[in-house]
Amino acid sequence: KKSRAGGGSGFVGRELTRLLTNKGHEVTVISRQPGPGKITWGELESSGLPACEGAVNLAGENLMNPFRWWNESYKKDLFSSRIDTTKTLARAIAASSQSSSLLGPGIGSCYKPSLTAQYTEDSEWTPFDLLSKLVNEWEASALLPEDVAKTTKQVVVRPGVVLGRDGGAMKQMLLPFWLGLGGTLGSGNQPFPWIHVSDLAGIIAHALEPPADTPSTSPQVFNGVAPALNTNYEFTKELGRVMRRPTIFPVPGFVVNTLLGAERGMVLTQGQKVVPESTQESGFQYKYLDLTSALKEIVGS
Ligand code: NDP
Repeated sequence: KKSRAGGGSGFVGRELTRLLTNKGHEVTVISRQPGPGKITWGELESSGLPACEGAVNLAGENLMNPFRWWNESYKKDLFSSRIDTTKTLARAIAASSQSSSLLGPGIGSCYKPSLTAQYTEDSEWTPFDLLSKLVNEWEASALLPEDVAKTTKQVVVRPGVVLGRDGGAMKQMLLPFWLGLGGTLGSGNQPFPWIHVSDLAGIIAHALEPPADTPSTSPQVFNGVAPALNTNYEFTKELGRVMRRPTIFPVPGFVVNTLLGAERGMVLTQGQKVVPESTQESGFQYKYLDLTSALKEIVGS
């Protein structure tokens, strides 16, 4: 079977490509750069979607890009890199005659941070800040026209913080923790919705098959988080324990907000209790259900 993955060269995309290839699928990456096994977004626009059974978009300017100032041009790129690519892919699917599955993106941060509320895929939400506005526009850009949606399975996956050795938050955290400089962020009481990258790739692969059996005009949503509900304090202490390093330097919320900008800092200093109810009801089996097993695999002890 053939799949196309926008952003397939990234942290999550590489894991998904490995998983699908191991399952015997052929994967083509849609990228800004041409190369072997790739097509560019321009080629997708001019030549259409090559024959395939599924298409996923994981492209997006990194939210925590350490090389960019948090300014209007960066924020604009966060939106356009996700929304324009998703629109391009959705248009290509609509124009092709094959019935394939479209995996839209999303982020758990569409749910309003709270210490108590629990959110499932069915929870109502309305945009309340920059990132939830981004998710709202992003998910809307993945919607297919009604006639196409009748034969195409549409899925939205909303990941939490993706944990893995080769990218995302862990890549930036391992050095300070190894140096003994790790600590809780903000109060530490805030929920820390996380998922191991291998499980996120697993959820995406699971959503891609079986093919369009019961297509519906509204997309199916899967929360891409582990079912364990942990706080930032629990995550910090467990990472320190697994790495055998002290975690005695809490970073106050205002420092995080000053360094990252308040709109972005809240991803770390606040959090949501996200429950993967539909993901589990759909029969997906997690490999990493608890922080200890996920962190041990990543740290390699
Ligand atoms: P990466 O930062 O690894 O980037 C993925 C790919 O996006 C890159 O390889 C690149 O592909 C493409 N890309 C980067 N910048 C741009 C741009 N300005 N315009 C167009 N394309 C661009 O992302 P992840 O794999 O970590 O995440 C995948 C998706 O999941 C993202 O959309 C992210 O928002 C979302 N997500 C990730 C989380 C995480 O913790 N990692 C948490 C929640 C959601 P190329 O260079 O080939 O064009």
